[in-house]
Amino acid sequence: MIPSVLPTYNRAPLSFVKGEGAWLFEADGRRFLDLGAGIAVNALGHANPDLVKTLTEQAERLWHVSNIYKIPEQEKLANLLIDKTFADTVFFTNSGTETAELAIKMARKYHYDKGHPDRTDIVAFEGAFHGRSTGAIAAAGSEKMVKGFGPLMPGFVHLKWGDHDALKAAITEKTCAVIIEPIQGEGGIRPVPDQCLKGLRELCDATGTLLIFDEVQCGMGRTGRLFAHEWANVTPDIMMVAKGIGGGFPLGAVLATEDAASGMVAGTHGSTYGGNPLACAVGARVTEIISDPAFLAEVNRTAGRLRQGLESLIARHPEVFESIRGQGLMLGLKCKALNTDIVKAGYDAGVLTVAAADNVLRLLPPLNLTEADVAEALTRLEAAAALLETQKAS
Ligand SMILES: *Cc1c(COP(=O)(O)O)cnc(C)c1O
Repeated sequence: MIPSVLPTYNRAPLSFVKGEGAWLFEADGRRFLDLGAGIAVNALGHANPDLVKTLTEQAERLWHVSNIYKIPEQEKLANLLIDKTFADTVFFTNSGTETAELAIKMARKYHYDKGHPDRTDIVAFEGAFHGRSTGAIAAAGSEKMVKGFGPLMPGFVHLKWGDHDALKAAITEKTCAVIIEPIQGEGGIRPVPDQCLKGLRELCDATGTLLIFDEVQCGMGRTGRLFAHEWANVTPDIMMVAKGIGGGFPLGAVLATEDAASGMVAGTHGSTYGGNPLACAVGARVTEIISDPAFLAEVNRTAGRLRQGLESLIARHPEVFESIRGQGLMLGLKCKALNTDIVKAGYDAGVLTVAAADNVLRLLPPLNLTEADVAEALTRLEAAAALLETQKAS
């Protein structure tokens, strides 16, 4: 018999009743250090008092009004984001997938309005993840996501990761945009080297192609800068943001330059819930906190401590781990053992991690992880590795 909840997830046998900071609690009081943070969503930890206060105050005032009215909470958050980034304008969504949909529409409309209706192709990369809508799966193109769901939305060109010559050849008079995650998340924490992002920007400039960065996972302070592309000193024309920006409240945003967004006039796009006052009130508080240079400096210090500890953990458990990659608090441990086995051993050791492609174990902890949490993380990951080694030996 089909379960009451559609069984599209392989769920772990865990369920939580309470969260506090980087910790999650089961009903029997067992606690787990959460190094997955709802897949980079709980950027400021669970039940963050500041965010609880912001949400409750907004809840007592106003939950929802239609986008046919002005929403001051949206304007506040939009202005904050514009202030801190390349962007001139922002559209709010409820999720990352919806930002992919708008990014695709915006890029196509841009060329259409400039008199190039044939420029509809969007170049994407192998291993990418942009969401689960029919458009977003067509964009990512992996067999695993698209099989059985055809016919797919046409107009996507998929390139091998890191193949520069193929990229140059793929940009034609039909190309509309390039969509890329500065650090692939689901693909296994694969950072695009800075010089490649720079080269991509130059190629897009030379050909009038729009550059879309999907920072749904790597953005909002995750890498130690407000947005990951800042490390490479390049900016996109359109950027997708979600996950961390709501700190756990569903919220996404598409940021764009005035030029890139020029086709999106009244009536071209919309959302009933997108930019809801509750979501935007929380999003504004999250953005204020994360964009503070002192906060980001602390993220980098925490990341340094964690990474150093992980390096020696890898050295002590060469049968379990192989190497580390990523930036800031978006870390991937390339594994020797099966990553999903380590995730399971973590459950027994009271630590939550997330598997990714390429046999990588993802660590995406709350950005305000304390020094004590870092020590606990290392102890518990060590225990998980030891558990796995004993299981193997017996
Ligand atoms: C999670 C994710 C998405 C999709 O976001 P949802 O909120 O799950 O729709 C898109 N792009 C990237 C890079 C992601 O990590």
